[in-house]
Amino acid sequence: MTTQAAKTGGYISGYDGNYYATTLTENREWPALDGAQEAEVCIVGGGLAGVNTLLGLRERGIDAVLLESSRIGWGASGRNAGFVAKGYAAGEGSLLAKYGMDKAKTLVSLTKNARGLIRERIQKYDIDCGPVIDGVLTVSWHDQPGAIVDAIKTANDHFDLGFEFKTREEVREMCRTSRYHDGIFSPHDYQMNPLKFLRGLAAAADKIGGRIFEQSAVTSLSKDGAGWLVKTAQGTVRAKHVVLSTAVYGDAVDKRLQFAAIPVQTYIMVTEPISEDAYAASLNTRYAIYDSRFCSDYYRRLPEGRLLWGGRVGLFAHPDNIAEAMTQDMLKVYPQLRGVVKPAFAWSGLLSYAAHKMPMIGKLEDGLWYNTGYGGHGICPTTAGGEIVAAAIAAGDTGYRAFDDFRLSFTGGKAGRYGAQMVYLWWKLRDHLNI
Ligand SMILES: Cc1cc2nc3c(=O)[nH]c(=O)nc-3n(C[C@H](O)[C@H](O)[C@H](O)COP(=O)(O)OP(=O)(O)OC[C@H]3O[C@@H](n4cnc5c(N)ncnc54)[C@H](O)[C@@H]3O)c2cc1C
Repeated sequence: MTTQAAKTGGYISGYDGNYYATTLTENREWPALDGAQEAEVCIVGGGLAGVNTLLGLRERGIDAVLLESSRIGWGASGRNAGFVAKGYAAGEGSLLAKYGMDKAKTLVSLTKNARGLIRERIQKYDIDCGPVIDGVLTVSWHDQPGAIVDAIKTANDHFDLGFEFKTREEVREMCRTSRYHDGIFSPHDYQMNPLKFLRGLAAAADKIGGRIFEQSAVTSLSKDGAGWLVKTAQGTVRAKHVVLSTAVYGDAVDKRLQFAAIPVQTYIMVTEPISEDAYAASLNTRYAIYDSRFCSDYYRRLPEGRLLWGGRVGLFAHPDNIAEAMTQDMLKVYPQLRGVVKPAFAWSGLLSYAAHKMPMIGKLEDGLWYNTGYGGHGICPTTAGGEIVAAAIAAGDTGYRAFDDFRLSFTGGKAGRYGAQMVYLWWKLRDHLNI
């Protein structure tokens, strides 16, 4: 994965052009695996899915090792937009329609609980990932207030999500653009610095005995008596259980995961600081914002007066210049920022999308677990997934069976990516035509 920075320097190594790395006030590095280790559990992948599993296991007293091929949070987890919102990419309405009320409620409540657990852990482990700002606003690109009211009713009546309707006057007071119509406000969702959060979680797991190894790509996995043998270039881990949380970076350690998700790129740009006045004339709120299109813009104000702007997806190539592409998208919504805003950082990240748009959590065989497929619904579901897998291994909990309907899907390899590209173009056209 190539990343691109409009500005370099100032951030700690291993995070490419990622703005968040410039905000770190520590530069802890975990060692590479060297030699032989034994553990009850070996987790592969140091993103949110892997680190949450490690912390969940350690909190339950289980001996565990985590191997990350680069740095903790190098993947999507350390480069996302930092919106902490409940729910899944599949959407509550579609879960309800396909799986019925009980199942949909169980699934959605997992991410609601996770949203609370994240707050608890920030406090409990004193994780410096602020400012944590409450409130996420979804603004409607289309003039369809009836659809918004219906969505709020479903979310509140069935899932108790506490959504609030915002009129277009209220939306336009916060977002000074004529692009948007009405909005859905979620007061309990929030925003934070995702890289600082993840590194804080990893430090917490380490402090209570979790063994973490960076620069330790897993090169092979094989059966070893009643357990598993995991190999890196310079070391091995023998473990009774292995949890694969490698998302879509690199080749899958187990070929059964190789085509289970489509790697989808998405992009973020962070600007130079913007004056208070220029802000107030465009984005007159601290809430995190995203719009209602299939392929939405998502953005929020950062400390120091910077603006984080994310959007677009790509199945194959990057846009030639991510910073320029994001700036153009921003100016379509806020033309008043022309000449006011300069990009300072830009990068891409990979989402790991299953065909069913749900996380994939389960067992491949005895002692071999997968916890992956978090494209489009990351921070809360990965927290839930970590807890589910940790509870299954530590106490035989069967909560992971709630994901039996969302097994490893076959996404069709390269052909699947062409198919997904066509679907994406179709939805872009619909967005463009306002249908
Ligand atoms: C630009 C962008 C914006 C996003 N915005 C949001 C948002 O605002 N809110 C939200 O909730 N979600 C968001 N997401 C989604 C969220 O970031 C992801 O769902 C989540 O981070 C997935 O976590 P993960 O641990 O599954 O994957 P990753 O974070 O990608 O971690 C996988 C890790 O596995 C490691 N790995 C791979 N192969 C090996 C191997 N062989 N050996 C060892 N390690 C290996 C990789 O190096 C990587 O660090 C966004 C994602 C992107 C890309």
